[in-house]
Amino acid sequence: MKSIENAELKNKKVIIRVDYNVPLNENLEITDDNRIKESLKTINYCITHEAKIILLSHLGKVKEEKDLKTKSLRVVAKRLSELIKSPVTFIPKTRGIEVENAINNMKNGDIVMLENTRFEDLDGKKESGNNQELAKYWASLGDIFINDAFGTAHRAHASNVGIASNIKESYLGFLVLKEIENLSKVTNNPKKPFIVILGGAKVHDKIGTIENLIKKADYILVGGAMAYTFLYAKGLNIGKSLIDEDSLLFCQNLLKTTDKLILPIDHVVGESVNSKTKCVKTQLENNDMGLDIGPKTRELFKSYLKNSKTIFWNGPLGYTENKIFEEGTREIAKFISNLNTTSIVGGGDTAAVIINMGYAKKFTHISTGGGASLELIEGKELPGINI
Ligand code: ADP
Ligand code: MG
Repeated sequence: MKSIENAELKNKKVIIRVDYNVPLNENLEITDDNRIKESLKTINYCITHEAKIILLSHLGKVKEEKDLKTKSLRVVAKRLSELIKSPVTFIPKTRGIEVENAINNMKNGDIVMLENTRFEDLDGKKESGNNQELAKYWASLGDIFINDAFGTAHRAHASNVGIASNIKESYLGFLVLKEIENLSKVTNNPKKPFIVILGGAKVHDKIGTIENLIKKADYILVGGAMAYTFLYAKGLNIGKSLIDEDSLLFCQNLLKTTDKLILPIDHVVGESVNSKTKCVKTQLENNDMGLDIGPKTRELFKSYLKNSKTIFWNGPLGYTENKIFEEGTREIAKFISNLNTTSIVGGGDTAAVIINMGYAKKFTHISTGGGASLELIEGKELPGINI
């Protein structure tokens, strides 16, 4: 593993690929700056080691001209400057003379941030397609490359893999190293009992994760909408609950071959996701939509979790966007926060829910990468890490 700690940074122009793909509201204000905070360790290390720091990141997807107005990194540069208590020079360009002049004028410890790398996608997907001309250009701006963007490590883009293959020296930053170290507590000989919690919307997105984890876990507790595809596969009435038809056969086969899957035994139901009322049922009727795990299921799940030595959690256990259906997820998060166990969370929505509920500090690790964390758990090699 090429750790940043092996790099000679003094007087060097260091390009750091960070993950500043943060959520913005309609007024273009940052609603969660966790990813910016998580980048500070690497940037501060480069400042202390007297490097010149050039930051690259993407922000959302850029598909049409109007995205240029709503996907600028300018707000992120401002927030970073507040957090790091140093000036951050934002250049609203991804290439050109303005970029080159700003970099040539840098002193040790200075920070320059370029515009959203995906602005280059407007012109033939140059960033996402790992265009070599673009990758070589970005690489030519610095002496050393550091990849600290875990959230995009499962993609080979010009701003990560592209730069790394066109520059002399590449290293991994502290955030990427921390992610690998913690997620490997799940993939490499997890301490037993090892309990997995799976929830969220679609089974389909998680098939690879389930196939890999079913071999390693003692039990997989299934909640969220995902549980209803399994319950339907068992022949139960799931009413109007969300079902992932494409994965039915997979669920039926899995239920035949393992007894590690623990499914909900009661449900909080409403008439739709926007429901203002709820009730608890053990069996669903035709007009019911299952939107949270019921109180008996919460106790059942806790009985498996209480003696665990490792927990991996992906997917909210209910439709948490509607407050009246977040209790199951909250109760389980609170229960885990008081356990003496290794607790790892992966998945964009799951991480956001647990952070917003205020339990993040009590977990061993909350991954900053949604798709990337799941691909690592699936056992795939991530191109952004193999640089
Ligand atoms: P992650 O991003 O953590 O991998 P997913 O994207 O798979 O998680 O799932 C999150 C989504 O699943 C959320 O929008 C949540 O509301 C939804 N969800 C969870 N339980 C239910 C349910 N019972 N019915 C409908 N949607 C649900
Ligand atoms: Mg999601």
